[in-house]
Amino acid sequence: MSWARAIIHLDMDAFYASVEQRDQPALKGKPVIVGGHPQRGVVLAASYEVRPFGVRSAMPMGRALKLAPKAIVVPPRFDAYVDASEAVFRIFERYTPLIEPLSLDEAFLDVTASQTLFGDPVALAARIRREIHDELALPASAGIAEVKFVAKIASDSGKPNGQFVVAPGTAKAFLAPLPVGRLWGVGPKTEEQLVRLGLRTIGDVAARELEWLTRTLGPSGQHFWELANAIDARVVVPDREAKSIGAQDTFEEDLQGDEALSPHLHGQALRVGRRLRKAHLKARVVQLTVKYDDFQSLTRRRRLEVPTDDGQVLYREARALLTRVDLGRKVRLTGVSAQELVGQNEQLGLFAAPAPERSDKLNAVLDRISEKFGTKAVVTADLVKADAFSLRDGFYAEEKQARAKAEQAKPKDAVRVVRDEDA
Ligand SMILES: [Mg+2]
Repeated sequence: MSWARAIIHLDMDAFYASVEQRDQPALKGKPVIVGGHPQRGVVLAASYEVRPFGVRSAMPMGRALKLAPKAIVVPPRFDAYVDASEAVFRIFERYTPLIEPLSLDEAFLDVTASQTLFGDPVALAARIRREIHDELALPASAGIAEVKFVAKIASDSGKPNGQFVVAPGTAKAFLAPLPVGRLWGVGPKTEEQLVRLGLRTIGDVAARELEWLTRTLGPSGQHFWELANAIDARVVVPDREAKSIGAQDTFEEDLQGDEALSPHLHGQALRVGRRLRKAHLKARVVQLTVKYDDFQSLTRRRRLEVPTDDGQVLYREARALLTRVDLGRKVRLTGVSAQELVGQNEQLGLFAAPAPERSDKLNAVLDRISEKFGTKAVVTADLVKADAFSLRDGFYAEEKQARAKAEQAKPKDAVRVVRDEDA
């Protein structure tokens, strides 16, 4: 059957934990937690064996270990995850150029036009998952649907290591029994409000008059009504056509304070930098998004003197922006996004400073090295154990010196570099 529009949402299962179980056979079939410091850190990934105990990613480590005292805790190896991620995306690229990455281990693929060459999207999803399994020995799940929102929900139904198809014309029926909390944009507070209005399931929302919903809920009423009716006009936007490139993470448990948030910002900034370079784009503006536990969301922006595709620069800017938000409050989401994108060669203005040019070259070298030898070079000291990556240390030596100097020059707490792996 040919689909008028075919979207695959591909999502790796317990990604970091699966990579660890693959690389360390002793961990296969065992309850594995990839995480940081046992008291202060959070769970970065939980293998399927440990999930029955209630352990979830982003949960504080202390709590996770109370739930599953026998779990094996493995420190993260981000280089390995970035490598695996790139390999996964290279498999996607065999089948469509329309790939919208949502994170290291998750993407939307528009395979509508791929049907001519590769046939049925359902068989194609199975093929992609089989290639990921055969070539990378990693489990992936997929949702196949006509629109993004439905494909994303469907991949959850396929987990673990499976896929779920919502055939054309069946999306409304698929969504109807699900709780309203599954609609995009519905958090616990909104869910409570909807349930009070008698809207318990997505089907309840779909059944109401659009006019009543907008009168009762304002503009989001229309948004919920459309989603509930499986109407989602958003297209899959590959990075090279994007107006902005961002990375964000919702924490399962809220985080508080600079020390807890910075490593996430760093990871997000590095992800954005890599995607910018891959798309041959640079950003003029960096934006930080913070969503608090009460769902209040705010953004802080900063215009750069010189456009950049350097994840380290993005991170520095994002951290500077972080000082402009209230860090005493609990945070449920952070995001870093690159905006006002320009082509890689358009940014050389009259006053282009020599320093950024040097880091251009640095990043080009790092990316080439990544392609050849893996991606160790783009991960920095607060994300990985320093001894593992002598190559990187060499390349970043200059930047490290500059940072150390800046650290001496400023009051200590203003530029303290968080090292998640220490202690
Ligand atoms: Mg995943």
